[in-house]
Amino acid sequence: MTDFDAIVVGAGPAGSTAARELAAAGARVLLLDRASLPRYKACGGGIPLRTARLLPFPIDGVVEDTVSLLDISWRGRYRFVRDSAEPFAAMVMRDRFDALLAEQAARAGAELRTGSPVRSLDRSDSGIRVSTEDGFTASARYLVAADGAHSPVGRMAGLGTGLAECAAWEVEVRAPEHARRAYHGTALIDLGYRPWGYAWLFPKASVLSIGIVLPPGQAPAMKGRVDTYLDRLGLRGAPVDIARGHKIRFRRGGEPIASDRVVLAGDAAGLADEFTQEGIFYAVESGRIAARAVLRALAGAAPLTAYTREIDRNLLPELRAARVIAYMFYGMLGRFPGPWLTATRLLPFLWDAFFAVQRGESTYAREVARVPILPAIAARRLALA
Ligand SMILES: Cc1cc2nc3c(=O)[nH]c(=O)nc-3n(C[C@H](O)[C@H](O)[C@H](O)COP(=O)(O)OP(=O)(O)OC[C@H]3O[C@@H](n4cnc5c(N)ncnc54)[C@H](O)[C@@H]3O)c2cc1C
Repeated sequence: MTDFDAIVVGAGPAGSTAARELAAAGARVLLLDRASLPRYKACGGGIPLRTARLLPFPIDGVVEDTVSLLDISWRGRYRFVRDSAEPFAAMVMRDRFDALLAEQAARAGAELRTGSPVRSLDRSDSGIRVSTEDGFTASARYLVAADGAHSPVGRMAGLGTGLAECAAWEVEVRAPEHARRAYHGTALIDLGYRPWGYAWLFPKASVLSIGIVLPPGQAPAMKGRVDTYLDRLGLRGAPVDIARGHKIRFRRGGEPIASDRVVLAGDAAGLADEFTQEGIFYAVESGRIAARAVLRALAGAAPLTAYTREIDRNLLPELRAARVIAYMFYGMLGRFPGPWLTATRLLPFLWDAFFAVQRGESTYAREVARVPILPAIAARRLALA
């Protein structure tokens, strides 16, 4: 007899979603996090409407702004603004957003234990035993490791190896009132980092979240590039509340994310896209898929390893399409920045397609399928499986 049907490690969007769905279906669930909630997470906090729509409760109480304007530039040049007419994303601070998701999991019946970092995993005949740094132990038949991009628990289970990755850096700038008012309702994206990457400014109620994402080898340059971006925005010298980096990982197919007792969800499984590097949508979706896989395993209907097939069927086509778009978009931008940005400005349907994906009215996979030659060109260069 185990203490729980499932233990979920990590109360971010993936883990809290998995725990909520498991508890709502009647499973005995323990949700563990190393941090006390609310806790800061380096993240732009851009929640596309398609992500909000996956959640069966309103997030309005933690939304700090909604954006319908996208302000694009290339190192401050070739600047233009696209108006999506309706909001395409909500802006949140992750401490409050994640605390809401964990609270919903607890309300559904999950036992929430915070300030409790998992230190080791042991297998037993009936399942898996978890020990935490504060001396707590618990056992369960199955474990969902949703412990983020570094995924120490995934490593303990021997999963999540071989994922691609990139690096990101974020500063929370306590900008003067007039600057915050100027950016209200607008997401800024500054392109022009080689071979790919972008800087962003996302508006929040009392700060501006400003950051950059770059290939992993360029991590040492991130801080300097954010400083240059702050200069361009006229915000150098504004007080910075928090400055922090974090990696983001990408599943391209084939990397191990499930065993007979453990599955990885969210960033732990590399479920972020390579065009925008956003991951909250995939974290929530994989949390739901993980919950269904655990419920089927508990019922003896399918082995837990069937999770990999479900992830690859439901999420991999979208992640691959995002990678194809990334290849085309950043590739063209690297070669012909001015003409390419001018072309995208003059072809509003490109940005309309982006807004439709963000709102959940389309998908990257559907948009890529409209141009059948695209995946073929990209597949040759990217060696997509
Ligand atoms: C700078 C930056 C900006 C980003 N901006 C965006 C954005 O605007 N929009 C978007 O969609 N995505 C964005 N992302 C990606 C997004 O942050 C992640 O995809 C998302 O947080 C993944 O959620 P998760 O639940 O898988 O993991 P996380 O949110 O990382 O949660 C993991 C949890 O596991 C806990 N944990 C870790 N180790 C242990 C342990 N040993 N024991 C117990 N608990 C543990 C952590 O405390 C944490 O609470 C950004 C990423 C970065 C780095």
